[in-house]
Amino acid sequence: MFDDVASYYEKLEGTSSRLAMIELFAEMLKKANDKEIAQLVYMTQGRLAPPFEPIETGIAEKFAAEAIAMATGYEAEEVNKRFRKSGDMGLAAEELVKSTKLRRMADGKLSVQDLHATMLKIAGTSGMGSRDTKIKAMASLIASSKPIAARYAVRLALGQLRLGLGDATILEALSVVATGKRELKPKLESAYNICGDLGKVATVLFKEGAKGIEKLDVELFSPIRPALAERLPTAEEILERMGGKCAVESKYDGMRAQVHFDKKSKKIKIFSRNLEVVTDMFPEIARATLSNVSGENGIMEGEAIAYDEVLDAFYPFQETIQRKRKHGVEQISKEMPLHLFAFDLLYHNGKSYLAKTYEERRKELESIVKKGNTVRTSDMEIMSSAKEIEKYFDDAITKGLEGIVAKDLRAPYIAGARKFSWIKMKRSYKNELSDSLDLIIVGYYSGRGSRAEFGFGGLLAAVYNEKRDLFETITRIGTGFTEQQMKDFKELLDKIKTDKKPARVDSVVTPHFWVSPKYVVTVNADEITKSPMHTCGREKNEKGEEIGYALRFPRLTSDGVRKDKSPEDATTTKEIIEMFKMQKKAKVESSGA
Ligand code: ATP
Repeated sequence: MFDDVASYYEKLEGTSSRLAMIELFAEMLKKANDKEIAQLVYMTQGRLAPPFEPIETGIAEKFAAEAIAMATGYEAEEVNKRFRKSGDMGLAAEELVKSTKLRRMADGKLSVQDLHATMLKIAGTSGMGSRDTKIKAMASLIASSKPIAARYAVRLALGQLRLGLGDATILEALSVVATGKRELKPKLESAYNICGDLGKVATVLFKEGAKGIEKLDVELFSPIRPALAERLPTAEEILERMGGKCAVESKYDGMRAQVHFDKKSKKIKIFSRNLEVVTDMFPEIARATLSNVSGENGIMEGEAIAYDEVLDAFYPFQETIQRKRKHGVEQISKEMPLHLFAFDLLYHNGKSYLAKTYEERRKELESIVKKGNTVRTSDMEIMSSAKEIEKYFDDAITKGLEGIVAKDLRAPYIAGARKFSWIKMKRSYKNELSDSLDLIIVGYYSGRGSRAEFGFGGLLAAVYNEKRDLFETITRIGTGFTEQQMKDFKELLDKIKTDKKPARVDSVVTPHFWVSPKYVVTVNADEITKSPMHTCGREKNEKGEEIGYALRFPRLTSDGVRKDKSPEDATTTKEIIEMFKMQKKAKVESSGA
């Protein structure tokens, strides 16, 4: 029953220990059956379906207030009064259900499946009269909920259920349910990397056990979690790591696109780096894939980027990301067509290619992508000397590219992980970090002085610690904002303000306002330093002081909020530590030179 689930949600909200969260969540899942397990997994993460199925209820606070009024017999004004007091429509619903003026319907009989089905129905209602239908359906949900269940049902409908359970925590809880321990997590994680759907992993585990999990394979139109690249600063180190020979490709600074296609049904779906469906952003790439790539079906990966063929010039990321808008895409696709530089083949004619070597995948990719304009293969050469790699790198930079990605010829496609089978090398500026960082906003400061009028003075930003499944702070960012950005940030962040530190944020500093970890921004900095102010990679030093990593002179890049990255796709603590080591080495080398 959803009431029972709601009681667990309440306990989870009051827990900041990850281990306790895993135990609690596992206890809750143990009571579930295989029909509702996927729904529970999605709902606990605040959604109704996996991220690649963009299903939203379309319920705004105003609608919710009307639904609560209808379900409890109070005036909408009374609901709004309570909402204004706490800033939480869920709490308003809970209070009013407690003191409802109406006769209760089947109290506490709301099942997880009924709740989920009604939410889906609400999401699927559109057009004339949909407003009333949505409100009525929501009201009937509230009317059949106990007060505590009403609190969470309303938050879920509004997209405000922020329990803070990350993917890693959910996978560990599933392992505990199946084995009593956390040992099954790596297997569950591999399955998740291949299908990108935690609900599916949970269902297979419940129905078929660990054996079923091992058999989970690539499926067309189910996105594969992307392979990621490690970093190394020099061509020598890259070659050494790759065994003396590797493929070197241009690193295009556009948007990663995973293209799934099936010729027979003429179906095509394009997924972004964080597995959202972005097919509508790239109409020309969708068309070109169907006409220019051979085979019945397949999954290709590549970088979509604005490119001028005549001038052989690449446009900045800003131009590509413009496509992230709803209207007028066809028009801009005419003015500034995008190209897909395909760099991998993950599935073809019904078969998974993940286990094949890079060399085999690349050969097949080149044979199926017909020489065309819009879809083409990425530039690639096989190299075995550092000199050659350096020259290729310099040429790439001259052309306006971001750098290079070297690839291990012998390696399979390692979904969802950052491994040395791909190594990136980017342009490095003197006295600056050689790479920008993607940080999660966890709080913000109100402005002082000239910024007071915007109510915004800077951000508190964090990196992702994969092991702890937590966000650790690394810096405050106070520069690089335009006036417009200050206004925009204030507006954006006010919507996700929380009254206390969010459960998954680890911080020793307190910003003026905490926000739920949701948005990722790209930041440049001069250097990574050690500091007691931040929790990134925090450890006791020899003097017994707790020291973490921080950034020197951080500034926001013009990319703004990275909509193609989720908090868990941000730079990780492990990467910061590696970059710190690289930086130290570079300093020693340059002072010795
Ligand atoms: P970045 O912000 O540097 O792109 P990232 O965290 O998004 O980093 P990484 O794994 O570090 O991802 O770098 C690989 C990214 O580079 C891919 O996600 C892809 O979007 C982009 N890319 C551009 N050209 C290539 C290429 N030829 N091969 C692989 N990835 C490429």
